[in-house]
Amino acid sequence: MAGQQALPYPIRKNRSKNLETLKVEGHGKNWRRFGGHYDNSKYPPYKWDESGEVFVFSTEGIPDTTKNNVIKVVNKFINDFHLPLRCEDGDTKEERSYLLELLEDSVTARGIKKEIDFDKLNIELTRIRHECKRLTYGIILIVDERKYEFLSTKGEEPAIYGCGSGYGLTILRVTHPKAVVHEFAHMCGLGYHHGEGSTPPNRNCTMNWVYPTEKFCEYCKNRLKEIWA
Ligand SMILES: [Zn+2]
Ligand SMILES: [Zn+2]
Repeated sequence: MAGQQALPYPIRKNRSKNLETLKVEGHGKNWRRFGGHYDNSKYPPYKWDESGEVFVFSTEGIPDTTKNNVIKVVNKFINDFHLPLRCEDGDTKEERSYLLELLEDSVTARGIKKEIDFDKLNIELTRIRHECKRLTYGIILIVDERKYEFLSTKGEEPAIYGCGSGYGLTILRVTHPKAVVHEFAHMCGLGYHHGEGSTPPNRNCTMNWVYPTEKFCEYCKNRLKEIWA
C-alpha cells in the first residue's frame, strides 16, 4: 500500500528556528492562545473544537482508500485520548469547493508545483470562520504531493510531509500514519517538537524532530490530556 513505506524524516530539511514561539501556553482550553504565531491576524484562533467535528477533504487525484485510512488513523487518535471529536469524510460537503478555492488563493505557482502558504491560508480561514461562520470545524486537507508543496516562510525550510496548526487546519502531502498522527497532534495543541529549541530530543515519540513513531511519550500524552481536560 502506497502509504506504508518508511518515511525519510526529518519533516523539514533543516530544523526550524522559530518553532519555540509555537509552544502551548496556559492550561485547559487556553491552549488556543499559543504563540503569537499569527500576530498579523485580525482574529484570535477560532474555537473549531467546539463543533465536535473534524472533516477530511482531498484534492483531485487522492484515492478514497487513502482518505479513508486517514479518517481511521484520526478516529483512533480521538478514541485513544477520549477527545470530544469525531472525524468524517468532508468531500461530500458543499463547503468542499469553497475550501479548495481558499487553497488556490493561498498558492503560488512555481514550475509544475504550487506552493501552499500555510500561514496565509490559516489566517484567511480564521477570518472566514469569524466573519462568515463557514468551515467552522476542524479541517484536514489531503493534497496531491505531485502538484503541491509548502512555501518556505520566515527563512525556514518548508515542511515536506504536512503542516498542522492549533487553529484547526492540517494539510497533508503524505498520509503515512506517522505523519497523520504528528500533524493532527499539532492541530490538537502540541505546538513543539522534541529536539528543537529548548525541548530535548525523544526518539520514542511522534513529536520528535526526526524518526517519529506513531506513539507518544508520557510527556506528550499528559500534555494532550491537560489541553483537552
Ligand atoms: Zn511538526
Ligand atoms: Zn513526546
